[in-house]
Amino acid sequence: MQQPKSQLTIHIIQILMLLTGVILLGLPAFCTKTLSLEALIVQILIVGVMFIKAWALIKPQTADLFLNFKQADLLSSDVVLNSLSDGIIVIDRNNMIKFFNKSAVLITGFQPEDVLGMNYDLILKFVNNENAPILPADDPIFATRNTFTANQHDLLYLKTRGQKTKPISLQVTPISDNSSDILIAFRDISRELDKEREQMEFISTASHEMRTPIATINGYLGLALNPKISQVDDKAQEYITKAQAAVEHLGELFKNLLSISKAEDKQMTITPKVINLTQFGEEICNDFQSQAASKNIHLVFKPSGSRSKILQPDILVHTDKNLLYEVISNLLENAIKYTQQGTITVDVGIKNQDFAIISVTDTGIGIPPEDIPHLFQKFYRVDNSQTREIGGTGLGLYLCRKIVENLHGRIWAESSLSQGSTFFVELKRINQAQATKLNASDQLQQAANQQVFTDHRQNLN
Ligand code: ADP
Repeated sequence: MQQPKSQLTIHIIQILMLLTGVILLGLPAFCTKTLSLEALIVQILIVGVMFIKAWALIKPQTADLFLNFKQADLLSSDVVLNSLSDGIIVIDRNNMIKFFNKSAVLITGFQPEDVLGMNYDLILKFVNNENAPILPADDPIFATRNTFTANQHDLLYLKTRGQKTKPISLQVTPISDNSSDILIAFRDISRELDKEREQMEFISTASHEMRTPIATINGYLGLALNPKISQVDDKAQEYITKAQAAVEHLGELFKNLLSISKAEDKQMTITPKVINLTQFGEEICNDFQSQAASKNIHLVFKPSGSRSKILQPDILVHTDKNLLYEVISNLLENAIKYTQQGTITVDVGIKNQDFAIISVTDTGIGIPPEDIPHLFQKFYRVDNSQTREIGGTGLGLYLCRKIVENLHGRIWAESSLSQGSTFFVELKRINQAQATKLNASDQLQQAANQQVFTDHRQNLN
């Protein structure tokens, strides 16, 4: 900031000297008639040209200086920045910290004098939920520095000065004033997470406790509808059928809530096994044939990536089969639910040799483009005249996302309104040699678990 200030002063002095020259020498000479009007105009023109040249030189610097003043003004404003509950850090083009507010001190434990002029990555140490340092590719500040676009993270973990790990949400924004500075705003979200955990624990306990009475009610309603056991008139049968549908919906809701609370709490038991995705796709399609047929919908298994055994090797993944089944059955149930007529196609294929993809395509009502980014959020339902008539909880796709994340995969959707939708699940693919190795180690693990179980039973006896 010193450089532009001194250059600006020099240019201002130059202009002032020239103007003084014109006023002190030109004007008296003109007044005393020793200088002609033409000569005075020429002198003024020369000064004008020099003024314009000097202005062109100093203009960017004044603008820069003005911005710097404005920024310095803003940055030094205790009232605004230091009263924010968010931690605010500004880093310069060389990633050196140039501003560190009070909340940043509270969250990180570092004092401004410890950090000003230091590279941000010496202070902001991000780790994942297993306390391992995150990769540069996952560092949002690194991403913003590379692309100069804003980045946001809803949940990241920050190692404090005292080596505590704090959950934070973070927003990284480039400052658009040609300075290449970056503003980092972050917030300690420990309390929100604790609250969410408490809520989830309550939901989980409630869902667990509800399962038995719901199953009992459903069972009795089933008995009431069974003509071999009880006789009810048509009206009563209609009411009981409706009650049974509602109870089934309630049971589904509690089942999903229980699964979600497990997935969110990382309590999901994952037992990975080598799965041949082509066989898996065929199996699950067979299981859903009658459900699809009840709505006159064709359900076909059309594996594009493994059509010919000679050309294509098996598509293998190492994952939990039950959890993957839960995901794909949710997608198939939705496909059947949101399709009035036509075909549902299940496909398995590969991407870049390293990934396996299983997809479910339907010819149903489709999803408006503005709803697609929100589909996998908790309780999100597309709200239009078509979906309002179809029941649902808005939890199925959220659960799918949580399960797929636990399986280290990816899930996404593509859709055309009124034409149909495709939901994709991508998992890491393994080759035959890896599968043989993993099969052997899974068997060893299984044998070891069995031994522990046998020993435990013997101890009990
Ligand atoms: P729901 O119980 O409401 O079906 P989901 O989480 O499974 O909850 O789905 C969220 C929303 O996404 C649904 O309400 C529906 O609007 C939309 N959706 C999901 N799958 C499909 C599909 N195959 N075709 C059209 N819309 C779908």
